[in-house]
Amino acid sequence: MVTYKSSSEIAKMRIAGEVIVRVFELCTKILRPGISTGEVDSKVEELIRSNGDRPSFKGYCGFPASICASLNEEIVHGIPGDRLVREGDILCVDVGVIHQGWHADAARTYAIGVLSAERDALAQATADGLNAGIAAAIVGHRLSHIAQAVEAEGRRHGYGVVEQYVGHGIGTALHEEPQVPNCMTPALKRNDMVLKAGLVLAIEPMFNLGTADTRTKSDGWTVVTADGKCSAHFEDTVALTDNGPEVLTRKDATERIWTGSARSTS
Ligand code: MG
Repeated sequence: MVTYKSSSEIAKMRIAGEVIVRVFELCTKILRPGISTGEVDSKVEELIRSNGDRPSFKGYCGFPASICASLNEEIVHGIPGDRLVREGDILCVDVGVIHQGWHADAARTYAIGVLSAERDALAQATADGLNAGIAAAIVGHRLSHIAQAVEAEGRRHGYGVVEQYVGHGIGTALHEEPQVPNCMTPALKRNDMVLKAGLVLAIEPMFNLGTADTRTKSDGWTVVTADGKCSAHFEDTVALTDNGPEVLTRKDATERIWTGSARSTS
């Protein structure tokens, strides 16, 4: 069932989103070569709980951590642990926060030190794909407008656009209807709903350097590219209003979610 949120409900999700903004500021500060993904997870959990809120992912279907930490060829659902991030890696941090029963969900891909131009371009295109999807999240459009806008960014560069994992509605549950695909699918063609005010969607493109095909590792969670090539993932929680999309998981409308690797910012 698709649910539409009132402005007071969206206000609670906005507060959850503000906590996520602070999580990403923390990640920008601490992500350096040599830190373990488990250490990032504990610091993020501490930040979320210090606000009196709860991490959405911990315990969700048995997931053991507060963030998903997906490195390089990992697309989504990487489990944080002892593994250290290294110079040249890309790490996706995906996080959800529950504030007074309302969720927000977002992900950023981070450059660890200096990246190859290939990885830098992949992350840039994925961020562009998310921005294109958000710009298409207009009342009166259909769900397929979002999917096509995201897909076009990926295809333009020849990247694999992951079809198997999708965005979603979000509210009192982390995952609600509708599914928000990142490309046109037969299922989307059959069930292409009109977007209405009050809908809140997590839009989350995943682009791969190689094939779009995926497989799940033996831990039962970590989804990797079938060919072992790199993947990038960005996500925001977006409320649809009559005045346009409001991104609940960014500091403001001018925030750049990918600023390039150290090489271009030094
Ligand atoms: Mg999500």
